[in-house]
Amino acid sequence: MTPAIEGSPFDRSTPVIDVTDLRVWYGTTRGAIQAVDGVSLRLSPGETLGLVGESGCGKSTLGRGLMGLLPAGAKRDGQVLFRGRDILRMSEREAYGLRGTSVGMIFQEPLTRLNPLMRISEHFQETIAQHEPDLSKSEIRERALEALRLMGIPPTRYRSYPHEFSGGMRQRLMIALALVLRPAFIVADEPTTALDVLVEAQIIGILNDLRRNFDTALLLITHNLGIVAEACDRVAVMYAGQIVEQGSVTSVFGKPQHPYTRELLRSTISLSTTGLNYIPGSPPDLIDPPPGCRFHPRCPDAMRVCAGHDPVQTVRQGGGSVECWLSGPDELIPPGGTERLEREEIGVADEA
Ligand code: SF4
Repeated sequence: MTPAIEGSPFDRSTPVIDVTDLRVWYGTTRGAIQAVDGVSLRLSPGETLGLVGESGCGKSTLGRGLMGLLPAGAKRDGQVLFRGRDILRMSEREAYGLRGTSVGMIFQEPLTRLNPLMRISEHFQETIAQHEPDLSKSEIRERALEALRLMGIPPTRYRSYPHEFSGGMRQRLMIALALVLRPAFIVADEPTTALDVLVEAQIIGILNDLRRNFDTALLLITHNLGIVAEACDRVAVMYAGQIVEQGSVTSVFGKPQHPYTRELLRSTISLSTTGLNYIPGSPPDLIDPPPGCRFHPRCPDAMRVCAGHDPVQTVRQGGGSVECWLSGPDELIPPGGTERLEREEIGVADEA
């Protein structure tokens, strides 16, 4: 366990990160890809939010969009408040200053992020010196060794090269590098994908200790619902660039109200799994997503209203929000809208 830090200076009720109507799109020769479309979410100090959904639903783009680490040509719109300051309206210099010191990112493939020619000590020196140029070499070393210690990496490895570490240790190293500047908010993008289950459990334990002891807010991007159940307070389910359901993990996983969440959970393998379930089809092309509810071509509960009208966000039972016509509001559903949409009609469905 990492040692507790007494008296966090930040009010737990004030969000560290408060996102409103975030949109991220890429221009292509075929048209604009709307990878993130109107996402709103918030995280308080010490809170972990799991972001789940199939590949290609915009999870990583959302994480990178929050950090300002999008590829050239990507555009963002909306509001991303970090402790009240809008990251989207900062100059590149201000945003760079924020990254690392206040917000950090843990990537999926640590080896591709570490320079194989640089010792671990040099990685730390580079990271710290960029953001805190006044620290002396011995202070940098002290800070680095403390971060390594918290990750269970012995000080004797300080001068090793990345290739001398195992996969799990490299991931812990990446976390140590993200942590060394004590960010208040971390985005961890599939941090355990390449690891075996034992190391995975270790990394999740470390991330849990972090938020508990340092009040770090964590956005955990993963396709592994088991990890979310174990490590997160809340969960947001993303489909085709939009958050379709969010709430506490207990409530959303215990009683999913969006058919996509329900189908995702049914596709998860557990000890009680007797057959393999999967969601037929794949997420839509985000250049030309289906009209109405984007999930309607794959939804087993699709109704006529779903094919022509965007679902409205409502408060879900048990707290949080859901965007599905099954949850209402009933008064906005046109006459005949609740009729079941037959499979053969999908794709050529009439307006309700
Ligand atoms: Fe299914 Fe309709 Fe709900 Fe979309 S809005 S998830 S198609 S029931």
